[in-house]
Amino acid sequence: MPLPSLARLRLDAELAHWASADRRPGLWWRDDDARAATPALERLLTTAAGLPLALAVIPDGDLAGLAAHLTRHPNVTVGQHGVDHLNRRPEGQPAGEYALDADPDHMAVTIQAGWRALTDHGLKPAFYTPPWNRLDAPLPGVLIDLGFTALSAWPGEAGEHQGLARRDAEIDLLRWKGGPRFRGTGRLLGQLRAVLERRRVFGSDEPVGLLTHHLVHDEASWRFLAWFIPYARDRFDWPPAAPVAAADVTARQAA
Ligand SMILES: [Zn+2]
Repeated sequence: MPLPSLARLRLDAELAHWASADRRPGLWWRDDDARAATPALERLLTTAAGLPLALAVIPDGDLAGLAAHLTRHPNVTVGQHGVDHLNRRPEGQPAGEYALDADPDHMAVTIQAGWRALTDHGLKPAFYTPPWNRLDAPLPGVLIDLGFTALSAWPGEAGEHQGLARRDAEIDLLRWKGGPRFRGTGRLLGQLRAVLERRRVFGSDEPVGLLTHHLVHDEASWRFLAWFIPYARDRFDWPPAAPVAAADVTARQAA
């Protein structure tokens, strides 16, 4: 594919800085919104070609079909992506599954039901990702009470939460305003280079997070991934998609 040569050269130069410091950056890949096995999911898994992929699953779809499909893809780690991905916020507010004044007990009951649906289908989630990365104040505490041990959102959405490992995704393949579409190769490579430079300068070993949404990729998005994933395969370390043990949600009675 034709590439903006400057962005590619700058990224290569940044990676050369890492190599000359005897370091190798990590890359972590999270894809959101799976509900079922679909042709788009198959295309994503083909693109991943066995590399670790964290799949954030909405627990209200054809989970049996999804689970059956994923048995052939041991590189995939499932996370729980909310409960139903419905926006319950008034127009003009940032989207979120829960009202701003939602009762934490109600959140816990609904999240646990989603966890149960995934787990009953053999898709026990290793992490939680709130839809729209909306990390309201009660949510981390609710997740900790339920037994979740890992959380993935957007960097800076909230600070550290004791008891919850964080692994975030900050390189978004898509732009969303006016409808999802490919963000652009030059822009993505530029963002990746900038994140890598910060990690290198500050001595951070945290993997860079790539965020994709397979159900709404346009052809330009797929073309980029078909180039970028093989490019990144040998230039990055690919840590396991699950940084911690699978969540073990404790039994909790509905209020
Ligand atoms: Zn989502």
